Amino acid sequence: MAETMHCYRHPKRETRVSCATCGRPICTECMVATDVGIKCPDDARLPREARAGVMKSDQVAKSILAGLGVAVAGIPIVYVLFFLPFTWLISAAAGYGAGVLINRAGGRNGGPMAIVISVLATAIPFLVLLAPGLLASAPNLRPLIAMVLAVIAAGVANRQI
Ligand SMILES: [Zn+2]
Ligand SMILES: [Zn+2]
Repeated sequence: MAETMHCYRHPKRETRVSCATCGRPICTECMVATDVGIKCPDDARLPREARAGVMKSDQVAKSILAGLGVAVAGIPIVYVLFFLPFTWLISAAAGYGAGVLINRAGGRNGGPMAIVISVLATAIPFLVLLAPGLLASAPNLRPLIAMVLAVIAAGVANRQI
């Protein structure tokens, strides 16, 4: 039998549960159920880097779905974008927005997988619209730079902080 412990936050409360990370005893009120077991409130709200880049398969699936959505929705957006002033600025903002969207779909984990999905999802609308121009004799640099900025912003949105 495990000996009775006392919650480190409530010394008068007995408990047999301890934090999966630090091992301190915690009472039922203090314990927080996480993906990796029961934790104390301190460890449960660890900074994001502790779990960054670790996506569960359903989060990966959601990220990819969000990426597809961004890719499809991005085509008309990018199409309009080329006619607007400040194309580069708006591209970067749109790319960042797309990256954040995909980051959230993936449980805000970020990491390499989210970056790859975001970068691809952001690049697809540009590539679809620019492909005919790229095959032409003299590709226009302006939309290409817009694409690069959007892609970088999408990746930055998913960096591991
Ligand atoms: Zn702990
Ligand atoms: Zn407690």
